[in-house]
Amino acid sequence: MGKYFGTSGIRGVVGEFLTPDLTVRAGLALGAYLGGGTVAVGRDTRVHGEALASLLSGALASQGCDVIDVGVVCTPTLGCYVAEEGLDAGAMITASHNPPEYNGIKFWNPDGMAFTPDQEKDIEELMDNPPEGPGWDGFGSLGEDPSAVRVHVERILDVVDADADGLKVVVDCANGPSALVTPEVLREMGCEVVTLNSQLDGRFPGRNPEPKPENITDLMRTVKAVGADLGIAHDGDADRVVFVTEEGEFAGYDETLALVAARVVEEAGGGKVATNVDASMAVDRVVEEVGGEVVRTKVGDVYVAEAVKREGCVFGGEPNGTWIHPDVHLCPDGPLSAARMVALVAEEGPLSELVESVPSFPILRENVECPDDMKDEVMRCVTRRVEESGYDYDTVDGVRVEFDDGWVLVRPSGTEPLIRITVEAESEDRAEELMREFLGVVEECMG
Ligand code: MG
Repeated sequence: MGKYFGTSGIRGVVGEFLTPDLTVRAGLALGAYLGGGTVAVGRDTRVHGEALASLLSGALASQGCDVIDVGVVCTPTLGCYVAEEGLDAGAMITASHNPPEYNGIKFWNPDGMAFTPDQEKDIEELMDNPPEGPGWDGFGSLGEDPSAVRVHVERILDVVDADADGLKVVVDCANGPSALVTPEVLREMGCEVVTLNSQLDGRFPGRNPEPKPENITDLMRTVKAVGADLGIAHDGDADRVVFVTEEGEFAGYDETLALVAARVVEEAGGGKVATNVDASMAVDRVVEEVGGEVVRTKVGDVYVAEAVKREGCVFGGEPNGTWIHPDVHLCPDGPLSAARMVALVAEEGPLSELVESVPSFPILRENVECPDDMKDEVMRCVTRRVEESGYDYDTVDGVRVEFDDGWVLVRPSGTEPLIRITVEAESEDRAEELMREFLGVVEECMG
């Protein structure tokens, strides 16, 4: 059986991995999987997006699905639209933060949750043997709805009912579809908005669409230059968001996640927050302080979404800026995350002081080289050793050992011949001690 889905849908260089044929087979497979119903198809700003969306849509219609083309939208706009309109699925043509020659296909459930790995396996099987479909008189229709962006904007304004009058915000849209949503939402909240890279352009002339500190230096400078209260940067499809303080500094991934998670918990009067095994214990400390509880998941936004759903969490997020707001839908939503942060800064800012208020602990990371075919054996050995030591641990993703004053994560890399060790502790000394201990354990297990 072919393996087409990676960690974030089907993704690759257009014309090499992601061919027209593969796109049609993905459409036929989704249509057959659904057996009819209505599917929304959206795309980000990439130059091949419109053609790939047409191929996918035609294939879906040939399997009896009615297709609604929502045009160029953020991934969370598609998720929100599918959830709000009660559709049977969504399909997004996007390669998120990858360079312009890439594109991808990702499928969404009626509640806005990404297809799970099990669902993707079912789709892969159907892609290798696409069923014939309902025949000449069973085709579905192809329609359009340009209102998806408005649906998303209004839904965000419904749930973030805050007045941010007078706040000045710079938004860096990365030439992606966030330009259609985030500036509009913030203006309607009362902000004065300055935009960067807000012309839609799938060649990404403004900056690399991955919102890492080194790619958003223009935003940092602009926030300082115009005297803004904060800066916001999205990735290429706006399921992610990162922030810059009024001082033009990058506001940490874990710190911002902790701040907004705690605010949502406070507003809900308690509740659970899902985050992955790699997030800082600062998230636990800040969330517990307001009466919340943190649930740990495997790394990957779909695992966070699954946990949010299963555990009835009020919020979920990974420290890369993909945050899930289940009061709207289960797709990570960059513009909604931005609106919640702006509301927080408006009421309790400045952002630099909020970030400062989150406890910060030393984090150490080391890699041990390990051939792929030894990884399972080594991880079994590490688990055994941890068990023998009587430590408190879980195996949600790799082995995560919990101490009163820190934690250790030993996890095989999914893409490289490495075992990764992450340590976080209350002091530098303790972090180094734990790292020495677990480097020793992994090296002994390597034999
Ligand atoms: Mg993305």
